[in-house]
Amino acid sequence: MSLKIDFNRTYIHGNEYDYIQEALKNGNISGNGFFTKKCQDFFSNRYDFKNNFLTTSCTDALEMSSLLLDIGKGDEIIIPSFTSVSTANAFLISGASIVFCDSKANHPNIDEKKISNLITKKTKAIVAVHYAGIACHMEEIQAIARKHKLYVIEDAAQSINNFHISKNGDIRFLGSIGQIGVLSFHETKNITSGEGGLIIINDNGLTKKAEIIWEKGTNRIDFLKGKVDTYEWFNKGSSYPPSDIIAALLYAQLENIDIIQEKRSYIWQKYYEELKFVEKNGFSLPVVPEYSGNNAHTFYMVCPSKEERTKLMHNLRTKHIHTAFHFQSLHKSPYFCNKYSGDELSNSVKFSDCLIRLPIHLNIKDEELSYIIKSIKKILK
Ligand SMILES: *Cc1c(COP(=O)(O)O)cnc(C)c1O
Repeated sequence: MSLKIDFNRTYIHGNEYDYIQEALKNGNISGNGFFTKKCQDFFSNRYDFKNNFLTTSCTDALEMSSLLLDIGKGDEIIIPSFTSVSTANAFLISGASIVFCDSKANHPNIDEKKISNLITKKTKAIVAVHYAGIACHMEEIQAIARKHKLYVIEDAAQSINNFHISKNGDIRFLGSIGQIGVLSFHETKNITSGEGGLIIINDNGLTKKAEIIWEKGTNRIDFLKGKVDTYEWFNKGSSYPPSDIIAALLYAQLENIDIIQEKRSYIWQKYYEELKFVEKNGFSLPVVPEYSGNNAHTFYMVCPSKEERTKLMHNLRTKHIHTAFHFQSLHKSPYFCNKYSGDELSNSVKFSDCLIRLPIHLNIKDEELSYIIKSIKKILK
């Protein structure tokens, strides 16, 4: 057994090398090439993401959604405080104001019951972040959005391959429910190209504009399809497509998604079954509500206090097991705390202070998994 168990380490399946070489040999390594199309077709076919575009990161996909929905000065965007800085930055840099909402008491996801109180005449969108890959309560969020005529953007950065189940049994993949959804292929996510993202356009009325914004504000896509002789500047835009080398790497990972998901689910389930006893000691295990599937993105425990978490992380570290905490509540950040005058958001703060994530990736061997579980038992029993 190796001496150190990493919190996360990228797993290479094999075809990554061949496909990157193929992209190089194709002689076309800018964006929107052969492998980019293969990835985008994969998402259309497997998840019914009809209009999707690879992006350089999920952060960029979020920025693109802000441009696409004309979000700017005077607009308010409701997001959970317990999320990535990218969820906030993407809208802040276009001039909008961020309104933070608390997490649920039993889950880091946005508390749908607390959203309505935050809506004003200026509210333009709600961002539903599916934390740990687990679905937000989309039926309620969609109902609130319809009532107030707001956009819903799904930050599905962590939730590839997962789905939402509505009361009537309707199953929809995360990212395909709001007007726009975004995924991340950052190294820490289930499927990775190092850096990378996807924007999913579910409102057909936005597709043409998305094509233009994606290609620096031009109709280059029409030009490549032979529809026009030259391409011209039509809108604000930016350079969002990744190089086809990145897409080649991503495609090799996507081909192995079933193997990746199976192994992650195995680890997740093992932790869940073996660590049930911690609930007697005031720790809690992840909750998967009846309206969500589970893509085993993260396995976490919530400790009774910050001190308990520090102690546990330290004790595991001495056993060469690397764990991680997660998001620091954005309303308490050095950047935002002086601008913030809302509620305390105590659930969000609790998850920032007390949540610990255990190693979950394809490099973990069975004996390492047993060693992690045995170590936690030894420390907490
Ligand atoms: C990882 C993550 C992002 C950012 O993704 P990048 O691809 O690294 O830009 C955004 N939101 C959430 C919830 C994330 O977990």
